[in-house]
Amino acid sequence: MTKTLDETQVDSAEVTGAGKARTHAYAARSPESGLAPFEIERRALRPHDVKLEILYCGVCHSDLHMVRNEWKQTTYPVVPGHEIVGRVTVVGDEVKKFESGDLVGVGVMVDSCRECSNCRRGLEQYCTVGKTLTYSSPDRITGEMTYGGYSKTIVVDEDFVFRISNELPLAAVAPLLCAGITTYSPLRHWKVGKGSKLGVVGLGGLGHMAVKFGASFGAEVTMLSTSPDKEADARRLGAHKFALTRDAAEMKKLAGYFDFILDTVSAKHDYNMYLNLLGTDGVMMCVGAPPAPAEVPIFTLIDQRRSLAGSGIGGIPETQEMLDYCAKHGITSDIELIDIAYINEAYERILRSDVRYRFVIDMATLR
Ligand SMILES: [Zn+2]
Ligand SMILES: [Zn+2]
Repeated sequence: MTKTLDETQVDSAEVTGAGKARTHAYAARSPESGLAPFEIERRALRPHDVKLEILYCGVCHSDLHMVRNEWKQTTYPVVPGHEIVGRVTVVGDEVKKFESGDLVGVGVMVDSCRECSNCRRGLEQYCTVGKTLTYSSPDRITGEMTYGGYSKTIVVDEDFVFRISNELPLAAVAPLLCAGITTYSPLRHWKVGKGSKLGVVGLGGLGHMAVKFGASFGAEVTMLSTSPDKEADARRLGAHKFALTRDAAEMKKLAGYFDFILDTVSAKHDYNMYLNLLGTDGVMMCVGAPPAPAEVPIFTLIDQRRSLAGSGIGGIPETQEMLDYCAKHGITSDIELIDIAYINEAYERILRSDVRYRFVIDMATLR
């Protein structure tokens, strides 16, 4: 299609301009509105900023929670999206790490205080002052709300931008920026590896990455599921064993069996049943957050010195380490690529767990 001169100018400012520029996006205007085309303004580049043209953006369950204000922290309009891959189009004057043309990613955070003890040791996700989220979060300098990856471009400080290998299919890399690091980080922190018996609860966007990483790190991986039709897929993804959690006899057999359980479920469920599957010093790592507090009999922890633990995404150095690990070992997410116009329907399918295992938006479909 031939573009008029005007359209060409608009496009080039949108994607390659270093000044403030309007960009195409999809936003929700209210909890009930759903997502629709919207125009936003990206800031003029600061000295350490890079601008990228977004090529793909994964669809995380958090996007849906935020769009519908289910966590009561959304500022409208909201442009979601924090599993971003794209290509650098222009860089600020003092940018050292990237240049135009580089393949890069942006995850859940775009800034943090950089000075607290956690930031100084690369745990920006636990910044004690408060990290800046990729969307619906106030910018540290201007206080303006951030807008996420359901858009054509984004401007981010180079310290929060990751290098992406060109060896992997780019669209399938996008979910690594949230689903990938969220499961990689606890498995690394608790040193899950050769000789470990790992149970994974929930086979969704997070769970399928947990199975892949667990198997890749050398652990014996068991998928713990309520549904027998998950078995074939769990094994294809790398699980060595499969156990039906509603089979009481099987659960009894597995009592005390696991060293680690990675629980990815964010709906209400019974923690006690899983804790009983842990052996002495076993750790249950939770990365899914049900809305209501969990009921956990502390005696289950005292007996066998078990731990119930939580973990949130990963820091900047660890996220780069995870991306490099994935490039080296050929690990990506299993995805369904969609047009952005399909996004509201995709949300409905996420609610029915009808996706294997992550939707990714092809941003070329946003015009
Ligand atoms: Zn996410
Ligand atoms: Zn900090």
